[in-house]
Amino acid sequence: MDKVLVKAVQCASEYLTSLQDRRVFPSDKELANLAALDDALADQGADPAEIIDLLHRVGSPATVASAGGRYFGYVIGGSLPVALGANWLAGAWDQNAFMASASPVAARIEETALHWLLDVLRLPAGCGGAFVTGATMASFTALAAVRHALLAKSGWNVEENGLFGAPEINVVVSEETHTSVLKALSMLGLGSRRVVGALVDTQGRIVLNELPPLTPSTLICTQAGNVNTGAFDPIGDICVRAHQVGAWVHVDGAFGLWGAATPTLAHLTDGVAEADSWATDGHKWLNVPYDSGFAFVRDPVQLHSAMASSAAYYAPSTAREPSQFTPESSRRARGIEVWAALRSLGRQGLADLIERTCRHARRFAVGLEDTGFSILNDVVLNQVLVWERRAHKTGDRRRSG
Ligand SMILES: *Cc1c(COP(=O)(O)O)cnc(C)c1O
Repeated sequence: MDKVLVKAVQCASEYLTSLQDRRVFPSDKELANLAALDDALADQGADPAEIIDLLHRVGSPATVASAGGRYFGYVIGGSLPVALGANWLAGAWDQNAFMASASPVAARIEETALHWLLDVLRLPAGCGGAFVTGATMASFTALAAVRHALLAKSGWNVEENGLFGAPEINVVVSEETHTSVLKALSMLGLGSRRVVGALVDTQGRIVLNELPPLTPSTLICTQAGNVNTGAFDPIGDICVRAHQVGAWVHVDGAFGLWGAATPTLAHLTDGVAEADSWATDGHKWLNVPYDSGFAFVRDPVQLHSAMASSAAYYAPSTAREPSQFTPESSRRARGIEVWAALRSLGRQGLADLIERTCRHARRFAVGLEDTGFSILNDVVLNQVLVWERRAHKTGDRRRSG
């Protein structure tokens, strides 16, 4: 075991150092070399340390250097040193995080991490929470709680009776909703095309006065941090209107919710805590390894009702049982890296991290604009949307977004 782990540490450390100056996307040759991993499966096994070495020699050069500081595509984080270290140790522990009786440490750390997350994201302390794979599954999990709650109001138990014959749920989504919300709706039987779109402005924010009619059986999906512009819907005002009629407000805050963690940006998230459920990511702005996302639901009973299961061999317990809040049963203890990241950053370190990246985004926008690019969004957060208009000396016109 030692030999293979030491080898892995050496390779990982060499890899992380190489991120400073290697290409960001692999070369054609490095991609072609991947063929060395395509051998037919052998009858006889091979030496574990040599396998790690092969992965490093052939695999490492064919990665995208998104863990480094020179990668600017999509919304992709790296890993804090402590988060990677905690991930390795948790891998060695190999805990099944589904119940406290299978891993007391995983259940305990997850509960603490949940409290810390609600604290830094400035959400109500009593929310129920689930540690899932990312914001897509977080929306899926939260929207399952919405489905439960809205149908329970009409006396319909969706977990037992399914959706056939159930009363209707009206779903309103921002016209700029992230595709993951539509995917979650489709997986929940709520349909990705039977939604009503809420009109948005040029930054992709829902226009409050153009909101479609809301009823007690309406779910409205809002965004804290539009993926293209970083803009926030007027969530506080939407909550006031929705709650007047008993509708439910869900927030996709995959990265934007983290604005709440720093006083200088917290104004962007004003009113967000008034919503009923939220989805966000750990693997983006918190910089923990994939895969890591969180669902929060104001009323933990609704989340529990949608996710709970029981079996004769589950030890009875009064503790918070992780699997009673998630779609999965057996899973890795992803709360450990979250706990370690927050413990290592502290409130101040997290605020600095969020602010620093937004400062870089503003500098990026100014620098690009000075050299002739057009910035298409108001840079309010960490997103910079760029269009190259200028003609090159060679005469070609290229666009990038
Ligand atoms: C990234 C992102 C998602 C999806 O998150 P995953 O972690 O990829 O599942 C959803 N909404 C927004 C706004 C995002 O940026």
